[in-house]
Amino acid sequence: MLKTKNVRYILIVASFCIAGLLAMQIYFLQRSFVQTEDRFNDKVNLALISVAEEIYKKNRDSTSSIEAVQQITPDYFAVNINDTVNSAYLENLLNLEFVKYGIDIEYEYVIYDCFMDSLVWQGYVPSGKLKKRGQTGKREELVPVDLLPGDSHKFGVFFPGKRQYIYSEMQVMVFATGGLLIVIAYFIYILYVILKQKKLSEIKNDFINNMTHEFKTPLSTISLSSEALQKPGILENPERIQRYAGIIYEETRRLKTHVDKILEIAVLDADKPKLNMESFDITQVVQNAAEMLKLKVEELNGSIEVVAPNEAFIIHGDKHHIQNIFFNLIENGIKYRKENPLIKIKIYKDDNYAAVSIQDNGIGIPGKSLKHIFQKFYRVGTGNIHNVKGFGLGLHYVQKLVKEHGGKILVRSEVGVGSTFIVLIPLQK
Ligand code: ADP
Repeated sequence: MLKTKNVRYILIVASFCIAGLLAMQIYFLQRSFVQTEDRFNDKVNLALISVAEEIYKKNRDSTSSIEAVQQITPDYFAVNINDTVNSAYLENLLNLEFVKYGIDIEYEYVIYDCFMDSLVWQGYVPSGKLKKRGQTGKREELVPVDLLPGDSHKFGVFFPGKRQYIYSEMQVMVFATGGLLIVIAYFIYILYVILKQKKLSEIKNDFINNMTHEFKTPLSTISLSSEALQKPGILENPERIQRYAGIIYEETRRLKTHVDKILEIAVLDADKPKLNMESFDITQVVQNAAEMLKLKVEELNGSIEVVAPNEAFIIHGDKHHIQNIFFNLIENGIKYRKENPLIKIKIYKDDNYAAVSIQDNGIGIPGKSLKHIFQKFYRVGTGNIHNVKGFGLGLHYVQKLVKEHGGKILVRSEVGVGSTFIVLIPLQK
């Protein structure tokens, strides 16, 4: 078994590895973003310089186009052109140059006239349609004028989807990050499984220790009582015989419940538990389980009532485990009591099933916990429930076995009123 110290080391190292991997990936992702953005900016710059050059050429302007482009914000570029420009001509030029530089992204463009100090044209070109003419559309949200300062004629190009475009250009990196996240999730899942297994084996150890202890007491009591029964002259004292026999009976009963508990733990570990199948009347088994807990309920000034049918309900199953199922459910009704436990058990026929409902007047289970109570280790963690001992395994065992028998288990509960568990086991045909 893994030692607690080792598990702690594994956890610490694993957490560092995961954190390291994530940090590295974030770093690479960022770097890749910056590089891809730089490449994009460079391409846009070159394309816009070419556009400016063309416009200068057309206007017979000898200004150098190198300084013409200015990046105002990460997604907004302004270009000095010294003169007004026809919008259709500009759009055409932009499209041509963007295609040339492989920039396939939606953009908005504006033309600014410095004499009028206003935008004289606003246009929007969707992506993927750069080559087609006349595909311009309109968009509501356009570049604000104050982003085009200065005392010269300009046009501006704004890329509203630049961030997404860059991410789409980084596909390999994004996929790699996705892959890494899956690996990390898998890794965390494995750690979780290891921890669960460890918890189970710890519980098993605790359990075995407790049990060994619990076995010792009844065994020595039985041994003492039987020794006393062997003493000469005991036959003259029937009262004492009665008392010792009673003690032996009670103690063997206690031993039996311990053996049942051990059986339960073994079932929880097995994927397919070994069952000793036989045909029997379920009523008998339910009554046995109730009988075993009767004393305990009466000590608490409560009662167990069993409403049994007149006919036998024959099922095919493992008698021992089936009895444990009902023992567990009745015992929970007593364990999670509010006041004097009143347990009502009803055995009836439901379609092709033998149905057993176990109703208590206990503390009840909150709605949000109901769907979890059959999970391994789950315990409702509110109020005074922690005063009650348990490992959160009982109902998990019950559900597993009911399913193994082809049956179903249902539960209804109301906080402060009580709970009803209904077990359905197929009737033998
Ligand atoms: P354990 O009793 O060992 O904690 P179980 O698997 O038997 O484990 O039960 C799981 C949880 O469901 C319990 O901790 C308890 O909170 C809740 N529970 C089960 N049966 C009842 C019941 N009859 N009344 C109220 N709460 C219950």
